[in-house]
Amino acid sequence: MPTASLVCVGTELLFGQTINTNAAYISSELQALGVSVLWHHTVGDNPSRVRQTLDLALSGSDIVITTGGLGPTQDDLTKELIAEVMGEELVFDKKAMDMMIAHFKSFGNRVPTKNNEKQAYLPASATPFYNEVGTAPGFALNKNGKTIMAIPGPPREMRYMMEKYVVPYLSALADSALYQQTFRTFGIGESRLETELLPIIEGQTDPTVATYAKDGECAVRVASMRPTAAEAEAAVKRVIASAAEIVGEFIYSYEDKELHHVVVDLLKEKNLIIATAESCTGGEYAQSITSVPGASLVFGRGFITYSNDAKKALLGVGEDVLSEYGAVSEQCAAEMAEGARLAAGSDIGVSITGIAGPDGGSVEKPVGTVWLGLSFGGKVTTVLRVFPNRGRQYIRRMCVLEMHDIVRRAVLGKGPLDKRI
Ligand code: ATP
Ligand code: MG
Repeated sequence: MPTASLVCVGTELLFGQTINTNAAYISSELQALGVSVLWHHTVGDNPSRVRQTLDLALSGSDIVITTGGLGPTQDDLTKELIAEVMGEELVFDKKAMDMMIAHFKSFGNRVPTKNNEKQAYLPASATPFYNEVGTAPGFALNKNGKTIMAIPGPPREMRYMMEKYVVPYLSALADSALYQQTFRTFGIGESRLETELLPIIEGQTDPTVATYAKDGECAVRVASMRPTAAEAEAAVKRVIASAAEIVGEFIYSYEDKELHHVVVDLLKEKNLIIATAESCTGGEYAQSITSVPGASLVFGRGFITYSNDAKKALLGVGEDVLSEYGAVSEQCAAEMAEGARLAAGSDIGVSITGIAGPDGGSVEKPVGTVWLGLSFGGKVTTVLRVFPNRGRQYIRRMCVLEMHDIVRRAVLGKGPLDKRI
């Protein structure tokens, strides 16, 4: 498997003014191509440090990709230093200059300034990456068993060059095929998931199985590199089938689809309309549903009933329920869900009522206590969750995910998970 390093040039990256999104993007693209990224180097616009970093990167991997420092100004030095390190002359590229002139012309008939000319010079034996969305060309240079590729820093231009030149260039170098698939789980913690999957992870070098955790959810990427794509795919499918036997109960997508997308797609497929009644999440659940394109086919209406008055007036929650059990209670969640469904005339009504904190907790109902309700198919189900108190946003987000999972399971004819493990 070829190895690569990134060299991101720009003092603003070191100052923290610009987040290095180029590194994340390029790495994930390379990973998908089966190129193993070994290093991310970030360096300011300083000639001797850029030179030093280029040497280091070239000594550590087969491929080096640089971003930034291809502009027209004095501090844009990446190309000059690459030429120096690789022992290349810079030569004028007429096509690059003509394209630059055309680019300027298309922007209100402007003309390049003198310093733009330096952007039309490329290392003598480089393959140019002509730029149709900006001024600076990039390039690839193959020399002494190493490949170095330079692309501009602005993310839009970087993405254009990755798609148009770098990805095809590297695909042509690859001597084996990568297949990868990611499945997503909810309700099982990362370490528990890894423990459960240990029998298929242990001692395995291909396919590789990697888990990635994110607030309550966990994604598992299975990847294989084989001589042919078909062999790689078959190997990945075998591992995923074994994983499904062990933790299938927690898997909500085999195609790396997000939970709210899975839910909206399921509702569409089953022709079901959902209505929402939210207290502590203040509309986040409805927002999550409606963020999916085409949600109008499944979303009836949403109630944000933060106060007791609103719960009574809009959802018909009983005064007795509120005075006897309180707003964060099984009874209230049940009446909210049923009330939302009836008021909206929908198939499904859901409710979320809980204590997101930081205040409002008590010994019986600590911060993180949440009741979730579901009215569907002629019955009302309620679920109690006590989320760890990792802050208001965390708790609200967990409520949304949990609600999605309850809806997903109900639509598939399953009850809610007994508990999260
Ligand atoms: P230009 O022709 O615009 O000068 P350049 O190739 O010289 O392009 P830089 O000057 O290094 O690139 O960066 C231009 C802009 O691109 C920066 O202001 C920054 O906003 C963005 N940028 C540069 N590098 C990165 C990076 N690694 N991640 C995200 N954004 C970046
Ligand atoms: Mg620049």
